[in-house]
Amino acid sequence: MIDTHTHLYTEEFDNDRDEVIQRALSKGITQFYLPAINSETHDKMLELEAQFPGKMFAMMGLHPCYVKADTWTEELELVKSHLNKRSFPAIGEIGIDLYWDNSTLEIQTKAFEQQIDWAIAMDLPIVIHTRESFDEVFEVLERKKHPKLRGIFHCFSGDLEQANRAVGLGFSLGIGGVVTFKNGKIDQFLKEIPLEKIVLETDSPYLAPVPHRGKRNESSYLDLIAGKLVNIYSKDFSEIDRITTENALKIFGK
Ligand SMILES: [Zn+2]
Repeated sequence: MIDTHTHLYTEEFDNDRDEVIQRALSKGITQFYLPAINSETHDKMLELEAQFPGKMFAMMGLHPCYVKADTWTEELELVKSHLNKRSFPAIGEIGIDLYWDNSTLEIQTKAFEQQIDWAIAMDLPIVIHTRESFDEVFEVLERKKHPKLRGIFHCFSGDLEQANRAVGLGFSLGIGGVVTFKNGKIDQFLKEIPLEKIVLETDSPYLAPVPHRGKRNESSYLDLIAGKLVNIYSKDFSEIDRITTENALKIFGK
Protein backbone atom coordinates (compact mmCIF):
# COMPACT_ATOMS: atom_id res chain seq x y z
CA MET A 1 0.00 0.00 0.00
CA ILE A 2 1.04 3.56 -0.58
CA ASP A 3 0.19 6.46 1.70
CA THR A 4 -0.09 9.22 -0.90
CA HIS A 5 -0.46 12.01 1.66
CA THR A 6 1.20 11.94 5.07
CA HIS A 7 2.89 14.70 7.07
CA LEU A 8 5.16 12.39 9.07
CA TYR A 9 7.73 15.16 9.46
CA THR A 10 5.54 17.42 11.64
CA GLU A 11 6.10 17.95 15.36
CA GLU A 12 3.20 15.65 16.27
CA PHE A 13 5.61 12.77 15.56
CA ASP A 14 8.73 14.19 17.21
CA ASN A 15 8.53 11.82 20.18
CA ASP A 16 7.93 8.53 18.38
CA ARG A 17 8.49 9.03 14.65
CA ASP A 18 10.61 5.89 14.23
CA GLU A 19 8.02 3.66 15.90
CA VAL A 20 5.23 5.22 13.84
CA ILE A 21 7.16 4.53 10.63
CA GLN A 22 8.06 0.99 11.69
CA ARG A 23 4.39 0.23 12.42
CA ALA A 24 3.45 1.41 8.95
CA LEU A 25 6.27 -0.53 7.26
CA SER A 26 5.26 -3.69 9.13
CA LYS A 27 1.70 -3.32 7.78
CA GLY A 28 3.04 -3.39 4.23
CA ILE A 29 3.07 0.30 3.42
CA THR A 30 5.91 0.59 0.96
CA GLN A 31 5.92 4.29 0.03
CA PHE A 32 5.00 7.52 1.76
CA TYR A 33 4.46 10.81 -0.06
CA LEU A 34 5.15 13.89 2.04
CA PRO A 35 3.24 17.02 1.01
CA ALA A 36 5.06 20.29 1.64
CA ILE A 37 3.49 23.01 3.81
CA ASN A 38 5.81 26.03 3.88
CA SER A 39 9.46 26.98 4.39
CA GLU A 40 9.28 26.40 8.15
CA THR A 41 9.03 22.65 7.62
CA HIS A 42 10.94 22.08 4.36
CA ASP A 43 14.12 21.02 6.16
CA LYS A 44 12.38 18.48 8.38
CA MET A 45 10.52 17.07 5.39
CA LEU A 46 13.67 16.75 3.27
CA GLU A 47 15.62 15.20 6.19
CA LEU A 48 12.95 12.54 6.67
CA GLU A 49 13.01 11.77 2.96
CA ALA A 50 16.81 11.40 3.06
CA GLN A 51 16.54 8.93 5.95
CA PHE A 52 14.30 6.57 3.97
CA PRO A 53 15.46 6.53 0.36
CA GLY A 54 12.98 4.86 -1.96
CA LYS A 55 10.30 4.93 0.73
CA MET A 56 9.70 8.58 1.64
CA PHE A 57 9.18 11.07 -1.17
CA ALA A 58 8.93 14.81 -0.56
CA MET A 59 6.66 16.95 -2.69
CA MET A 60 7.23 20.68 -3.07
CA GLY A 61 4.69 23.49 -2.92
CA LEU A 62 3.05 26.16 -0.79
CA HIS A 63 -0.01 25.07 1.24
CA PRO A 64 -2.95 27.48 0.77
CA CYS A 65 -3.30 28.08 4.53
CA TYR A 66 0.22 29.56 4.45
CA VAL A 67 -0.43 32.02 1.63
CA LYS A 68 -0.15 35.21 3.68
CA ALA A 69 0.01 38.76 2.35
CA ASP A 70 3.46 39.58 3.71
CA THR A 71 5.25 36.32 2.88
CA TRP A 72 3.63 34.50 -0.02
CA THR A 73 5.78 35.84 -2.85
CA GLU A 74 8.95 35.00 -0.92
CA GLU A 75 7.57 31.55 -0.09
CA LEU A 76 6.81 30.92 -3.75
CA GLU A 77 10.34 31.97 -4.70
CA LEU A 78 11.65 29.34 -2.30
CA VAL A 79 9.36 26.68 -3.75
CA LYS A 80 10.60 27.58 -7.21
CA SER A 81 14.25 27.37 -6.17
CA HIS A 82 13.66 23.89 -4.69
CA LEU A 83 11.90 22.81 -7.88
CA ASN A 84 14.86 24.00 -9.92
CA LYS A 85 17.37 22.19 -7.73
CA ARG A 86 16.18 18.59 -7.97
CA SER A 87 13.25 16.46 -9.07
CA PHE A 88 10.07 16.01 -7.04
CA PRO A 89 7.23 13.54 -7.68
CA ALA A 90 4.55 16.26 -7.46
CA ILE A 91 3.80 19.88 -6.66
CA GLY A 92 1.76 19.91 -3.47
CA GLU A 93 0.00 20.55 -1.45
CA ILE A 94 -1.51 23.52 -3.20
CA GLY A 95 -5.03 24.85 -3.66
CA ILE A 96 -7.59 27.03 -1.93
CA ASP A 97 -8.85 26.90 1.67
CA LEU A 98 -11.75 29.18 2.57
CA TYR A 99 -12.48 27.50 5.89
CA TRP A 100 -9.60 29.00 7.85
CA ASP A 101 -9.27 32.35 6.08
CA ASN A 102 -11.40 33.60 3.20
CA SER A 103 -9.86 37.07 3.22
CA THR A 104 -6.86 35.73 1.27
CA LEU A 105 -8.85 34.21 -1.60
CA GLU A 106 -7.24 36.48 -4.17
CA ILE A 107 -3.63 35.69 -3.26
CA GLN A 108 -4.45 32.02 -2.62
CA THR A 109 -5.80 31.87 -6.18
CA LYS A 110 -2.71 33.58 -7.57
CA ALA A 111 -0.37 31.23 -5.71
CA PHE A 112 -2.40 28.21 -6.88
CA GLU A 113 -2.29 29.37 -10.50
CA GLN A 114 1.43 30.07 -10.39
CA GLN A 115 2.16 26.60 -9.03
CA ILE A 116 -0.12 25.00 -11.64
CA ASP A 117 1.86 26.81 -14.36
CA TRP A 118 5.08 25.36 -12.95
CA ALA A 119 3.56 21.86 -12.77
CA ILE A 120 2.50 22.04 -16.43
CA ALA A 121 5.89 23.38 -17.50
CA MET A 122 7.71 20.65 -15.52
CA ASP A 123 5.22 17.93 -16.46
CA LEU A 124 4.43 17.15 -12.80
CA PRO A 125 1.15 16.16 -11.14
CA ILE A 126 -0.34 18.46 -8.52
CA VAL A 127 -1.83 17.53 -5.15
CA ILE A 128 -4.79 19.76 -4.41
CA HIS A 129 -6.03 20.89 -1.01
CA THR A 130 -9.60 22.12 -1.22
CA ARG A 131 -11.69 23.14 1.77
CA GLU A 132 -15.00 24.93 1.31
CA SER A 133 -13.64 25.94 -2.07
CA PHE A 134 -14.73 23.42 -4.73
CA ASP A 135 -16.23 26.10 -6.99
CA GLU A 136 -13.12 28.28 -6.77
CA VAL A 137 -10.76 25.34 -7.36
CA PHE A 138 -12.75 24.01 -10.32
CA GLU A 139 -12.85 27.49 -11.80
CA VAL A 140 -9.04 27.68 -11.73
CA LEU A 141 -8.62 24.13 -13.10
CA GLU A 142 -11.00 24.81 -15.96
CA ARG A 143 -9.21 28.05 -16.80
CA LYS A 144 -5.82 26.28 -16.69
CA LYS A 145 -7.01 23.19 -18.56
CA HIS A 146 -4.05 21.47 -20.22
CA PRO A 147 -3.23 17.89 -21.25
CA LYS A 148 -0.42 17.86 -18.67
CA LEU A 149 -2.56 19.19 -15.82
CA ARG A 150 -3.33 16.18 -13.62
CA GLY A 151 -2.98 14.90 -10.08
CA ILE A 152 -4.92 14.19 -6.91
CA PHE A 153 -7.78 15.87 -5.08
CA HIS A 154 -6.34 15.19 -1.66
CA CYS A 155 -8.72 14.19 1.15
CA PHE A 156 -11.67 14.21 -1.20
CA SER A 157 -14.87 14.93 0.74
CA GLY A 158 -17.21 16.35 -1.90
CA ASP A 159 -20.35 14.89 -3.46
CA LEU A 160 -20.78 12.62 -6.50
CA GLU A 161 -21.09 15.53 -8.92
CA GLN A 162 -17.86 17.06 -7.64
CA ALA A 163 -16.16 13.65 -7.79
CA ASN A 164 -17.19 13.23 -11.42
CA ARG A 165 -16.07 16.74 -12.23
CA ALA A 166 -12.64 16.12 -10.68
CA VAL A 167 -12.23 12.84 -12.58
CA GLY A 168 -13.41 14.54 -15.77
CA LEU A 169 -10.63 17.08 -15.37
CA GLY A 170 -8.04 14.28 -15.23
CA PHE A 171 -7.72 13.98 -11.47
CA SER A 172 -7.79 11.08 -9.06
CA LEU A 173 -9.41 11.18 -5.64
CA GLY A 174 -7.31 10.83 -2.50
CA ILE A 175 -9.48 8.85 -0.09
CA GLY A 176 -8.71 8.98 3.63
CA GLY A 177 -10.30 8.70 7.06
CA VAL A 178 -13.44 10.59 6.03
CA VAL A 179 -14.63 7.46 4.17
CA THR A 180 -14.89 5.69 7.55
CA PHE A 181 -16.88 8.49 9.24
CA LYS A 182 -20.56 7.88 9.90
CA ASN A 183 -21.42 11.32 8.51
CA GLY A 184 -18.62 11.35 5.91
CA LYS A 185 -21.11 10.78 3.06
CA ILE A 186 -18.54 9.79 0.42
CA ASP A 187 -19.00 6.08 1.25
CA GLN A 188 -22.55 6.43 -0.12
CA PHE A 189 -21.53 7.11 -3.72
CA LEU A 190 -17.86 6.20 -4.06
CA LYS A 191 -18.60 2.93 -5.88
CA GLU A 192 -19.85 5.05 -8.81
CA ILE A 193 -16.24 6.22 -9.27
CA PRO A 194 -13.92 3.66 -10.92
CA LEU A 195 -11.35 2.24 -8.50
CA GLU A 196 -8.71 3.21 -11.09
CA LYS A 197 -9.34 6.83 -10.03
CA ILE A 198 -8.80 6.22 -6.31
CA VAL A 199 -5.61 6.51 -4.26
CA LEU A 200 -5.24 5.92 -0.52
CA GLU A 201 -4.02 8.51 1.97
CA THR A 202 -4.07 9.14 5.69
CA ASP A 203 -3.29 12.90 5.85
CA SER A 204 -1.49 12.08 9.11
CA PRO A 205 -1.55 13.54 11.74
CA TYR A 206 -5.06 14.74 10.82
CA LEU A 207 -8.38 12.98 10.10
CA ALA A 208 -7.73 9.63 11.75
CA PRO A 209 -10.11 6.90 10.54
CA VAL A 210 -12.62 5.18 12.81
CA PRO A 211 -11.96 3.82 15.49
CA HIS A 212 -9.18 6.37 16.04
CA ARG A 213 -11.28 9.36 14.97
CA GLY A 214 -10.33 12.54 16.84
CA LYS A 215 -6.90 11.19 17.82
CA ARG A 216 -3.57 11.57 16.08
CA ASN A 217 -3.54 9.82 12.73
CA GLU A 218 -0.61 7.76 11.47
CA SER A 219 0.24 5.98 8.23
CA SER A 220 -0.27 2.49 9.70
CA TYR A 221 -4.03 3.23 9.81
CA LEU A 222 -4.08 3.13 6.01
CA ASP A 223 -5.36 -0.46 6.22
CA LEU A 224 -8.56 0.81 7.89
CA ILE A 225 -9.22 3.02 4.86
CA ALA A 226 -8.42 0.20 2.43
CA GLY A 227 -10.69 -2.04 4.54
CA LYS A 228 -13.59 0.34 4.04
CA LEU A 229 -13.00 0.26 0.27
CA VAL A 230 -13.25 -3.55 0.44
CA ASN A 231 -16.90 -3.10 1.47
CA ILE A 232 -17.65 -0.25 -0.90
CA TYR A 233 -16.22 -1.90 -4.02
CA SER A 234 -16.91 -5.52 -2.99
CA LYS A 235 -13.34 -6.53 -3.79
CA ASP A 236 -10.68 -8.41 -1.80
CA PHE A 237 -8.28 -6.42 0.30
CA SER A 238 -5.40 -7.57 -1.92
CA GLU A 239 -7.19 -6.29 -5.00
CA ILE A 240 -7.84 -2.87 -3.39
CA ASP A 241 -4.19 -2.78 -2.35
CA ARG A 242 -2.90 -3.74 -5.80
CA ILE A 243 -5.06 -1.35 -7.81
CA THR A 244 -4.64 1.71 -5.56
CA THR A 245 -0.89 1.09 -5.41
CA GLU A 246 -0.68 0.95 -9.20
CA ASN A 247 -2.73 4.15 -9.42
CA ALA A 248 -0.37 5.98 -7.07
CA LEU A 249 2.77 4.76 -8.86
CA LYS A 250 1.34 5.91 -12.16
CA ILE A 251 0.55 9.39 -10.86
CA PHE A 252 3.90 9.93 -9.19
CA GLY A 253 5.86 8.30 -12.02
CA LYS A 254 7.64 5.84 -9.72
ZN1 LIG B 1 -1.97 17.69 3.89
